[in-house]
Amino acid sequence: MRSELYIDGKWTPAANGRTFDVVNPATEEVIHQIAAATAEDVDLAVKAARRAFDKDGWPKLSGAQRAKYLRAIAEGIRARQAEIARLEVIDNGKPFPEADWDVADAAGCFDFYAGLAEQLDNNPEEPIALADARFTSKAVKEPIGVAGAIIPWNYPLLMAAWKVAPALAAGCTVVLKPAEVTSLTALELAALADDAGLPPGVLNIVTGSGSVAGQAIIDHRQVDKLAFTGSGPVGSKIMAAAARDIKRVSLELGGKSPFVVFDDADIDEAVEWIMFGIFWNQGQVCSATSRVLVQEGIYDKLLARLVEETKKIRIGDGLEDGVLLGPLVSKRQHEQVVAAIEAAKAAGATVACGGKRPEGFDTGYYLEPTVLTDVPLESDAWREEIFGPVVCIKPFSTEEEAIELANDSRFGLAAAVMSKDDVRAERVASAFRAGIVWINCSQPTFTEAPWGGYKESGIGRELGRWGLENYLETKQITRFAAGEKWGWYIK
Ligand code: NAD
Repeated sequence: MRSELYIDGKWTPAANGRTFDVVNPATEEVIHQIAAATAEDVDLAVKAARRAFDKDGWPKLSGAQRAKYLRAIAEGIRARQAEIARLEVIDNGKPFPEADWDVADAAGCFDFYAGLAEQLDNNPEEPIALADARFTSKAVKEPIGVAGAIIPWNYPLLMAAWKVAPALAAGCTVVLKPAEVTSLTALELAALADDAGLPPGVLNIVTGSGSVAGQAIIDHRQVDKLAFTGSGPVGSKIMAAAARDIKRVSLELGGKSPFVVFDDADIDEAVEWIMFGIFWNQGQVCSATSRVLVQEGIYDKLLARLVEETKKIRIGDGLEDGVLLGPLVSKRQHEQVVAAIEAAKAAGATVACGGKRPEGFDTGYYLEPTVLTDVPLESDAWREEIFGPVVCIKPFSTEEEAIELANDSRFGLAAAVMSKDDVRAERVASAFRAGIVWINCSQPTFTEAPWGGYKESGIGRELGRWGLENYLETKQITRFAAGEKWGWYIK
């Protein structure tokens, strides 16, 4: 396990020597210590990224040259996949098969953006037809510059990949800060980039708190672009900090995503996708389908099946075989989710199952998967993100009512609909005010497709070609025919 900051191609302790603890959420044991970056460390990282961008030529390399580094990082991740996944489990708590999936996805993300970097070489210029034939014009794409990337703890390596891979592909240089509770795999990413021979300063990883290291990144005048995934309040702070010097900004924030199930749906399939939508990663998923709306004809039957299956979920340390629900990521997160369940109960909700620490789990941040019914529409449980394995389920009667309930949220990250009637499913999909819509499933995420939210769920899109655009500027180059006279002042 690594413990130092990775700045300008070198491993270094924090300027003031401070560290913070790494806690295994399954055991509550302190398993490691990691450097807590200061503003001084961040300044060195940003200056290294600046130099790598402005002087050392990273943006001047061809896309194909940059792609070689990205592919080498992908190879490196795959070569150590199981080991890295294990680190993710002891850091984040998620079950090993999920971590293994994430790590493979992270490698795939580097490969995907290597492909897009190569395409930048093939298709670098777009000619523009101008009305005035004395001029010719073209638009070219260029990297924005130094990107400051700040990520959350729910998909530690994958969120790093979603930002670092497109940024490097575009020709940006990066300073990345992982979440303080899950920094282990981001440091492995730095080690893999180093092994791949990535030039010094192109990727810098500074571990530490949001209020010190994160704040220093967002306040730094030499950072051109801020890419953030995390909570709404921190997203607002980042946008405000970006406003001061007009930094480019992309935000992936929270959600309270609905899942509408019509009464022609297969009940077991619906239950399977509802569970996948809310219990995968202990429900600590921004796009988690946490508000389930079920048409009244099948509501009782579906609820009974959901409760029956939810009670069967095997809870335990993510490293144990067969475990499908690990602990929450931290003591703080556990306390917050338990408080949200208590508040829901106080507001009138009924706990159909779960809602407490599972029996026999006195240590570790464990919580039973929880189904809430009778959740008042105005309560926080229905409106605010809980970010835990807690689903609110409600009956509806008509399609119009379902759409109205689904869209009645300040968030708009994801939504899902299930019906055997394809025309209806498409109609509902287009009525959802959300950036990601699933039909007959919930949560499968693809590197090739755009990811991001409407309304307070964020700004911009990650993944796919949209993810690359996040790190590119558009430049117009217009040429006046040599030898032509303009003739305004000098006739
Ligand atoms: P958070 O906003 O507290 O922290 C996210 C990151 O921001 C961390 O690295 C943290 O250190 C940093 N940070 C905190 N204060 C900062 C500051 N003042 N300046 C700069 N950086 C600062 O969120 P979290 O608790 O890590 O994650 C949970 C939240 O993230 C949930 O609300 C969830 O919806 C959201 N999330 C969204 C997505 C998405 O794709 N939209 C993905 C994962 C998580």
